[in-house]
Amino acid sequence: MKFEGKVAIVTGASRGIGRAIAEELGRGGARVVVNYHSGAEAAAQVVDAIGQAGGEAAAHQADVGDPQQAQGLTQFAIEHFGDLHVLVNNAGITRDGLIMTMKESDWDDVLRTNLKSTFNCSKAAVRHMIRKRYGRIINITSVSGQMGNPGQTNYSASKAGQIGLTRALAREVGSRNVTVNAVAAGYIETDIWKNTPETARQTLLGLIPLGRAGQPAEVAKAVAFLASDDAAYVTGHVLAVDGGMAMR
Ligand code: NAP
Repeated sequence: MKFEGKVAIVTGASRGIGRAIAEELGRGGARVVVNYHSGAEAAAQVVDAIGQAGGEAAAHQADVGDPQQAQGLTQFAIEHFGDLHVLVNNAGITRDGLIMTMKESDWDDVLRTNLKSTFNCSKAAVRHMIRKRYGRIINITSVSGQMGNPGQTNYSASKAGQIGLTRALAREVGSRNVTVNAVAAGYIETDIWKNTPETARQTLLGLIPLGRAGQPAEVAKAVAFLASDDAAYVTGHVLAVDGGMAMR
């Protein structure tokens, strides 16, 4: 059990990639806080699934774009499970559109939910991790932040921002045995693509050397590696899980 005795928070864990990460960490023996925003029922199902697999989890509602709620999420983990070792900043949204017609609120919502949340939760967690001289922070970014994607100026900026934050924070807290890494996911089959036209999906598939979309569980395996002691000497790294899409 790789994560025996460890406590993990996964933001946006009610669905998709976050759910897969929560289940993977739970299977490894971590006690997991399943954060959600609006999907209370879905989060309860994730908690049940982790319990049925022999793990332990608790759901906690918080809008991680809000600093107080992010702080409350960290406090919940520490009060409920007594500690905090792993933070996975996974919560994210898209509000796609060409820049000329993109509403200011679409820019603000995406930057707040994807990037400011990473700042909020990391800031809230890092004090405890530094004190304990142990921490693993993993940020779920995207090929969009590396390659750029038309129609996603807001999303690409938020995901590129997460990469900068990852590297800066890795340098800040490395001496305290806190590692900070990112996983740059490619085209992973989740609800986030539900409004994307089929033609756009086919174009994306054409850019992937492995010739298929990825599954949430495949991202979760990479996160579990970075969260584990096997990755004790890895920090400031951006691990691609994208079927080769963004390779240079
Ligand atoms: P998803 O299926 O749409 O799930 C998004 C999750 O984020 C949900 O659990 C949602 O919670 C949560 N969330 C949204 N706003 C939140 C907020 N303000 N506070 C807390 N939680 C919030 O998306 P996904 O595809 O799994 O994406 C997960 C992450 O991977 C995102 O950061 C995304 O950018 C990144 N990513 C995805 C792909 C892909 O191809 N799928 C590729 C690269 C990167 P509720 O349902 O409870 O509201």
